[in-house]
Amino acid sequence: MVFIHDTEMSLRAAAALVNTLPDTDTEGVDRLVSQQDFDAYLDEYAYTGTFHRDDDELAAVRANRPRLLELWSVDRDGAVPLVNAMLRDGRALPQLVIHDGFDWHIHATEPDAPLSVRMLVEAAMAFVDVIRSDQWDRVRICEADDCASVYVDFSKNGSKRYCDTGNCGNRMNVIAYRRRKAEESA
Ligand SMILES: [Zn+2]
Ligand SMILES: [Zn+2]
Repeated sequence: MVFIHDTEMSLRAAAALVNTLPDTDTEGVDRLVSQQDFDAYLDEYAYTGTFHRDDDELAAVRANRPRLLELWSVDRDGAVPLVNAMLRDGRALPQLVIHDGFDWHIHATEPDAPLSVRMLVEAAMAFVDVIRSDQWDRVRICEADDCASVYVDFSKNGSKRYCDTGNCGNRMNVIAYRRRKAEESA
């Protein structure tokens, strides 16, 4: 295990949120527009605490995305001021908590803080772990020609090259195979 479980969960959730941006989508489509889109996201990435499920909440969560995306464009030292700013803006106060069948873990915001703030701080806390454990080279962008999805590599040997969203590994293998075939018959 590269990171502790809740850190990995938070990083997966952050990457998935960033991957709803048109910037990272192969078709340039924004995947977080409606409340329905947001419900689907929340079904997958369980957040606890207060939810409003209204337009303001969705707008605030959408606004987290470019801020998180920036983390995939900086190096480890460059990430530090971004992460610190997120913690500061979210008034992070780390506390150990236990609830809903999860083991002891850290919440750095109150359960009634705005959802967007809780999500941003949770992501920031996870990136703190990535920085502290000096694993920043695992914060990656998909290498497929036509994909800019972000991910964090949780593989043991750190050799993951493609995102999980677009079936990119398989697609690039097929392209490479066809290229080889074409070269062979040329
Ligand atoms: Zn929790
Ligand atoms: Zn990809």
